[in-house]
Amino acid sequence: MIILDTKKDFKKHINLLKSKGERISLVPTMGNLHDGHLSLVKIAKQNSSKVITTIFINPLQFGKDEDFASYPRTINEDISKLKKLKCNILFVPKNQNEVFNNIDNLEHLKAGPKGSILCGKIRPGHFDGVLKVVYVLFQLTQPDFSVFGLKDFQQLYLINQMAKKYFPKLKIICAPTIRNKNGLALSSRNSYLDKKSIKIAPLFYKILLDGINNLKISKNVEETIKYITANLEKNKFLVNYVSFLTTELEKLNSNTSKRKILLSSVKLGQTRLIDNIEFS
Ligand code: AMP
Repeated sequence: MIILDTKKDFKKHINLLKSKGERISLVPTMGNLHDGHLSLVKIAKQNSSKVITTIFINPLQFGKDEDFASYPRTINEDISKLKKLKCNILFVPKNQNEVFNNIDNLEHLKAGPKGSILCGKIRPGHFDGVLKVVYVLFQLTQPDFSVFGLKDFQQLYLINQMAKKYFPKLKIICAPTIRNKNGLALSSRNSYLDKKSIKIAPLFYKILLDGINNLKISKNVEETIKYITANLEKNKFLVNYVSFLTTELEKLNSNTSKRKILLSSVKLGQTRLIDNIEFS
């Protein structure tokens, strides 16, 4: 695996791959890689001849009271995991300037109304920051494919919209959520959970699944949201939001034929958990 930390070297390697006609997949991450991230790399490998993973903890997507400084950094372990999977190139920008030297040119990248609901409501500006970094990575890499996790459904949706507009030839691939054996979606932030919370956390997914069953019977979205919220609160989760929407992030009416999704974010102690479940 080739490891690069400057934009100049990265571009040089990309040009070389392109000149050889390689099909490139890009997997953007913030590192502290777990099996969820690695599943994205595996999917990328199945779809292309060269896989590029990036590790960059993007300051623009963290609010000022959030965990940018304490976000887990485990670069040596990450490198071994990627080598094992035979990832071809790892780009780890050595500083923010390697990514954002032209930040004034990125002002047009706004997540818009669908970036201001759900996670965007509790994290103002978060998705503008996400779109900026992903746009720069797409511009640098010019990939044929890029893989993102369904776990962060709103992020995936907004990136897909941005890609359609600015990178029409790029195909965004959606990867299923990888969970631990108790159902908890893997996340780098799970490492913040203490012993007690780690036992409670899997209830999040279970309560959401139960809520979907409840909706199928009751056909009442508002009542089901109340039911799920009460269940979460009873188990010590602080509810950020529980929302049933279409997969276009539009209001759901219960007899729609559109694809449906339950989206939720909660806090358990100081740790934010996100989960999304698509259902029919
Ligand atoms: P992050 O490092 O948190 O920015 O995540 C990088 C990518 O990995 C994003 O596309 C996430 O949606 C994806 N991802 C994170 N957790 C999981 C998971 N448990 N299963 C599948 N993909 C995931």
